Amino acid sequence: MRPDVAVFDLDDTLYPELAYARSGLRAAGDYLSAKWKVPGAAEQMLSLLEAGCRHTIFDELLPRHGLPATLVPELVEVYRSHVPAISLDDSTRRVLALLKEAGMSVAVLTDGPSQVQQNKVDALGLDALVDAVILTDAGGGRATWKPSPWGYEALEQRFGSASYVYVADNVEKDFVTARIRGWHTIELRRTDRMYTRRAVGPEYEAERWIGDIADLLDLWLLGARST
Ligand SMILES: [Mg+2]
Repeated sequence: MRPDVAVFDLDDTLYPELAYARSGLRAAGDYLSAKWKVPGAAEQMLSLLEAGCRHTIFDELLPRHGLPATLVPELVEVYRSHVPAISLDDSTRRVLALLKEAGMSVAVLTDGPSQVQQNKVDALGLDALVDAVILTDAGGGRATWKPSPWGYEALEQRFGSASYVYVADNVEKDFVTARIRGWHTIELRRTDRMYTRRAVGPEYEAERWIGDIADLLDLWLLGARST
């Protein structure tokens, strides 16, 4: 049985978060180069990212050029407010279109600062492709980020009594609340994911996992397998 409402996470589910990170570092690096005359700052930031650095890229780069750590918040602001150069790949776009064509409702449920997530939603053109976008941050800041029930409840209010499935990547926060509410859960394990998957307790795991978003078409549109 295919569910009535397919809810998707955003980062590392509908598009690779590394693409956003590269785009943001390019913006922050260009800003640093222009304002503080640091040659090749963007390339150096991207090298740190490719080397596995995640949350400390600005902290590592600034002292290399004799610049103070007090510039970090400025760079974070440039990173967060930049217009991201990201896009949906053809396969993801096709999946969303086919699910809607088949009569399913499609929605997005995502964590992160509202301004950052809205910029991503706009860049990906999601408003035209899905029925609802819920930014958990809009409910009350970090307090309503997953696994808070706020976003899940907002969707249930929007679509009413129906069967729901959450397709997402982060077992630490995405599935535990969905399961408590009786939603189906599917973990998408992209090979290009930004963060390493951690081991979690069984209540945090999804019911099943897939390696490619197009696998949803086999699950819901082609075969008779259940969700
Ligand atoms: Mg995610």
